[in-house]
Formats: sequence, C-alpha cells, structure tokens
Amino acid sequence: MNEYLKNIMNSDIPIIKYDLFSKYDFINHGFTTKKGGVSKGYYSSLNLSFTRGDEKEDVLKNYHLLAEKIGEDIEKFVSSNQTHTNNIRIITGEDAGNGIVKEQSFIDVDGMLTNEKGIVLFTYYADCVPLFFADPVKRVVGMSHSGWRGTVKKIGAKTVDMMVEKFGCDRNDIITAIGPSICKDCYEVSLDVIDEFRKIFDEDRIKEISVDKGNGHFMLDLWKANEYILMDAGILKEHIENRRICTFENSDVLFSHRATNGKRGNLAGFISLR
Ligand SMILES: [Zn+2]
Repeated sequence: MNEYLKNIMNSDIPIIKYDLFSKYDFINHGFTTKKGGVSKGYYSSLNLSFTRGDEKEDVLKNYHLLAEKIGEDIEKFVSSNQTHTNNIRIITGEDAGNGIVKEQSFIDVDGMLTNEKGIVLFTYYADCVPLFFADPVKRVVGMSHSGWRGTVKKIGAKTVDMMVEKFGCDRNDIITAIGPSICKDCYEVSLDVIDEFRKIFDEDRIKEISVDKGNGHFMLDLWKANEYILMDAGILKEHIENRRICTFENSDVLFSHRATNGKRGNLAGFISLR
C-alpha cells in the first residue's frame, strides 16, 4: 500500500489530503476512504451515496460523522449529480443542503465551483478521477468528476476556463490535485474508448496515455490524460499534485467499481472555503 495511505488509515475517519491545498488555512478539502462510517455489507462503512441502494439513515449518519470530523456544517453540504457530462455549476448559498439534507434540485452536474465561505462541495468516486481546484488569490474552490467520458470532454479544462471567465482567476494561480482513482496498470479499456481519445489527442499523446495489449484492449492512463488537459488549460505543472493512490489496488480501504463488479458504495471528494 502507498505509504501515505497506510499512515492515514490509523485515523478514525481517514481523510486523504493534498499539500498544495493544505498550506492554505482558508481551504478545507479532502477525500474519504471506506473507514469510519456505519453502513453495512458492501457499503461498509463510510458510503456517501444515497443512490446505490444503501440505507438512507446510515448514509445520513455517515455525513454527520464526516461533518464533525472535518469541522463543517452538514446543512451547507452540496451534492453533485454526476452523469459523465462536463456540466459545471456555480454553487451559491441557495444550493446549501442540496442532495444531502434536502432533495436534489439539479441534474447532470459533474463539476462545481463556489466562492462562498462555508459551502462544502461534494463529488463521488469509485475508480473515476477526482479533480480538485482552488485559486487561493481570488478564493474560489471547485471539484470535477473526470471518468474517461469526462476526460474526453475535458471537464478539467472547462473547470479552469470557468474559474477564469466567471471569477476572474489567473491560470498561473490555480492549484489542482488528481485524487485517488484507477491507475494505468489496472484500467483496461477497449478500442472504442481509445478512439474517443484520438478525437482530442494526437498519436504521440495516445502512445503516452495508453498501452496496446494487442488483443483490441488497452491499458489507459487517466491520470496522465488529465495532466495533459490541465496543462493545456494553462495550469502550471507544479500546480498539479497526484499522490498516485489507486482505488483498484487499495479496494480493501477504498471503493472500487472494477474490483467489486459494482457492488460498492461511493467515496467522496470535498472542498470548501473557510
Ligand atoms: Zn492500479
């Protein structure tokens, strides 16, 4: 197991954090593991999804436990509505509680941004790539869900563009992190997926992000693909952090869709301004 992951697993509710973000006391962020909740069976134990068949009371209890752990108000938690789009919503106080303590009020939202203090943005994962964003100068934070479809749709670049257009952020100031997700050694895809990437990357890049196994199957590196997309959007290389934690290889402590044939809960990435 990754040394960092091993160390934090001693905690009651382990939270994976990124140094680029942790150095600002006005940014609260992190990524959960399976440990520390009350859900049972294959949702055990810190499942944060209401939509995968788990007991609603258990999931809500998990959010309460997490709220206490991270020092935030559950009434201000905001859930995404992920459907592999590249739609990004700017979240305000009016959305507080959405999808967690209140009904879900919007659909098809895979990325969220806010500049309001206390609002906690939540996106969900079990192999797909979490992208964290913050501009510590303009004080804007965001998260985007970038599975292979979102990656082809360049949701990372779109998030950066929206930070610039809607909040006046400078690309040189924006910090990002690529969160726990399935790595290139574990993520096998078929040719049709690679063909989608050919629409956004030239052949040199395709060789950088994939390995042809010769049987119509490829190993795909979503981390590198997202790095390219973020750098093309003007993010500095030193502003992209990746702890290289693979969900599939660590499925004892992280939910992995592939490792469980879909019998799993959801992890969450969250970010807020204090
Ligand atoms: Zn792996």
